[in-house]
Amino acid sequence: AAKEDAGGGVVVYDPALAERTGRFLELDTDLRNALDAGQLDLHYQPRIDLATNRIVGTEALLRWRTAGGDVALPDEFIPIAEATGLIDQIGIFVLAEAFDRSQELAALGLRIAVSVNIAPRQFRDPNLLAELTRLAALPGFDPGLFELEITETMLISDNVQLKNTLARISRLGFPLVIDDFGTAYSNMAALKRYPIDGIKIDRSLIGTDDFETLASGVLTIGKLLGVKIIAEGVETAQQRDWLAENGCHEFQGFLASPALPFPDLVAMLQHASGANDSAAPVETV
Ligand code: C2E
Ligand code: MG
Ligand code: MG
Ligand code: MG
Repeated sequence: AAKEDAGGGVVVYDPALAERTGRFLELDTDLRNALDAGQLDLHYQPRIDLATNRIVGTEALLRWRTAGGDVALPDEFIPIAEATGLIDQIGIFVLAEAFDRSQELAALGLRIAVSVNIAPRQFRDPNLLAELTRLAALPGFDPGLFELEITETMLISDNVQLKNTLARISRLGFPLVIDDFGTAYSNMAALKRYPIDGIKIDRSLIGTDDFETLASGVLTIGKLLGVKIIAEGVETAQQRDWLAENGCHEFQGFLASPALPFPDLVAMLQHASGANDSAAPVETV
């Protein structure tokens, strides 16, 4: 909508856009404040080995507990943080927090992998590589148990700088797992160019009528690449059983557990293991 101003000129004004922009900036400010105020927290979803039914890993997932007591989910605020660049600071916070928790698990004798999500834009932040290099050198820390999840869309463009960064991260010993696999259009040749250790079948594939067809395709690619294959968003025993019978290695999903506050994860692991042995079995229906 255009309005005539006092001087007779035309001012282009779009109330819908202004509202979106205003809301956007407001959210960015709120998110900055939340980070400073310690309102961002990580919850941990168990990952289960399909052959042994034991918890072998856990994914750290961001939660924002607002002052009003509501919990905001990452799909609502990560895109904003990515657009404004705040994701770099949030990402460093996530790394530090997940690292501390991984050390707590190790100290309790609970040897499971911890994975964190890294947004595409973070790979342009030199602090990310610096921080990973610092962590990898810490005594007693096994980067092989600290996995980084990257998105499939990132790998489609043949970016030399990205390739170098991922190669360096991989040489530090951190496993790289492609998240949301099956949602982009990457091909084998593109995947072969990167030091990939695992793929995560996107949950949108698991929930469809074509589940078996789609999952078969992804499993074939994973097997050809020789990487660990994880399914996410597994909600039924039928899905789990099919995945186990068709060569999938691990799963995450509400069938086993949603993401939990860290103390609840520890309680689950300790309950499941009964003692201080390493990976813990989990009861799923
Ligand atoms: P993702 O990495 O693919 O994480 C899996 C999402 O699926 C999580 O949602 C998880 O709670 C959900 N989920 C797991 N099992 C099931 C299930 O059986 N059914 C259904 N319907 N959902 C299930 P969440 O925690 O809301 O996170 C959404 C996305 O936000 C993540 O997808 C990830 O892309 C992003 N994200 C979360 N934490 C971070 C972070 O620390 N950094 C970055 N850059 N992104 C993050
Ligand atoms: Mg993930
Ligand atoms: Mg995913
Ligand atoms: Mg996702």
